Amino acid sequence: MSATPKVGVADVKAALTAAVGVNAVTTAPEELDAYTADTYWPALAAAAAGAPLARPEIVVRPRTEEDVAAVLAAADEQRTPVVAWGGGSGTQGGALAIHGGIVLDLRSLDRILDVDEISMTVTAQAGVNGRRLESELNARGLMLPHYPASVDLATVGGYIAARGSGVLSTRYGKIEDLLLSLRVATPATGLIETVEVPRHAVGPEVTQLFAGSEGTLGVITSATLQLVPMPPERRFAAVAFPSVGAGIHALRRTLQSGHRPSVVRMYDEDATRLAFAPVVGEDLRGVYTVLAFEGEAEAVEVEERRTLEIAAQAGGELLDPILGQRWWDRRYDFYHPPHQPELPAIWGTLDVVATYARIEAVYEALHRAVRVPYADAGLELRMHFSHWYPWGTMIYGRFVVPDGGSDALALHDRIWEDGMTAALDAGGVMNDHHGVGIKLGPYMRRQHGGALDAMRLLKAALDPNNIMNPGKMGL
Ligand SMILES: Cc1cc2nc3c(=O)[nH]c(=O)nc-3n(C[C@H](O)[C@H](O)[C@H](O)COP(=O)(O)OP(=O)(O)OC[C@H]3O[C@@H](n4cnc5c(N)ncnc54)[C@H](O)[C@@H]3O)c2cc1C
Repeated sequence: MSATPKVGVADVKAALTAAVGVNAVTTAPEELDAYTADTYWPALAAAAAGAPLARPEIVVRPRTEEDVAAVLAAADEQRTPVVAWGGGSGTQGGALAIHGGIVLDLRSLDRILDVDEISMTVTAQAGVNGRRLESELNARGLMLPHYPASVDLATVGGYIAARGSGVLSTRYGKIEDLLLSLRVATPATGLIETVEVPRHAVGPEVTQLFAGSEGTLGVITSATLQLVPMPPERRFAAVAFPSVGAGIHALRRTLQSGHRPSVVRMYDEDATRLAFAPVVGEDLRGVYTVLAFEGEAEAVEVEERRTLEIAAQAGGELLDPILGQRWWDRRYDFYHPPHQPELPAIWGTLDVVATYARIEAVYEALHRAVRVPYADAGLELRMHFSHWYPWGTMIYGRFVVPDGGSDALALHDRIWEDGMTAALDAGGVMNDHHGVGIKLGPYMRRQHGGALDAMRLLKAALDPNNIMNPGKMGL
């Protein structure tokens, strides 16, 4: 059920203007048009065809965190949907105003509030851009070790709301591992602040309730995150494994021996040939893996030596480290033309995480369900394994169909349905770091079982009139 507005747009606009001032509120058509698509393929395709999937009726740009709470109070009173918008770089349709209403563009909340060099933390408002934050921290010899490929577009709030991950995650963790505390506004509570430290025994960790909540419970207005010093040493390596299974075996042993390379990216044969090789500028065949090691020089040396010994024991061929360095230097090229497809192509990322006991079965299942049956449609499936944990890893399965033809949306949806069903049947968990949005909402019951009811009850308590991003996450 979504919110049913009590009144018309003009009344909602008047209430918002009274709450946050006339300059923060707009209904200008050309401004609304900027919020019709995030990077969800169906949204991009629909917008390009002139029939957007969503369009807000009002855009609000709050100037203070209190403004956010005031917007939620006014919208709740008027029963009007509110959709948080960070950088709009999400891939799941999460930021789309599919029921109209208000888009709350948080990029005006752009202050870095505090850098605590003793505790090595930063407190930043939700709309701070990822690249800007990183540049300012780097100037102090620090870094937020969350390096998503969307760093130029995404915001601090979006990182947390979508439970994202960056290329250094194997060493430093995902964004939720770097999150200490946050301030968040919900319709039921107004602006609240969570406990300052993430490890405590004063009840459940409320901070984590909002990590991954994609604007369905409230709006994150600022957050405190863990920093690390810029590493004095970062070294690269490259290995070709005889098979995906051999690579998984070696890298599992590496992680379970306590080693933490910062980058671990293993490309299957198709991904090596179609994605990795063109970006690094070589003609390569095999299961290519890039690794990075960072920190104090002596520790780096030991970790690199042991990791490469384990790789060699599994049949890995040690390659010129320049390949790893080149991958690092060009790592964003994967996401731009000519390496990133453009319309009328169809593309999508089947992001699946699983334990080591199941990951190969999931990989094979994706092959059988997607790569083989859709080969006649020209589909290519490039799978790489890019975020590694002591218990398992994830598959980033990028599919591309060069031209979807007249029924491209139906083809796109069928590929997703077949891929997700196969991955779940094989014991995979449907997402490591891209979130749910509208894309994966239909699978939430299957993924969570009865726990989805707990999530729905929590949402009903914090957002009793269902104004917060209605229609998302299967809630
Ligand atoms: C080229 C490219 C590369 C990418 N690479 C990565 C990657 O390496 N790692 C990764 O994790 N992701 C990646 N993504 C996906 C995306 O960038 C991330 O999900 C990112 O964290 C989204 O941040 P954003 O600020 O753009 O959020 P948006 O897209 O604006 O919003 C995402 C969701 O969060 C909600 N939201 C946004 N801000 C708030 C807030 N302050 N409070 C509450 N809810 C909020 C929105 O309503 C929406 O549901 C990539 C995307 C692209 C286009």
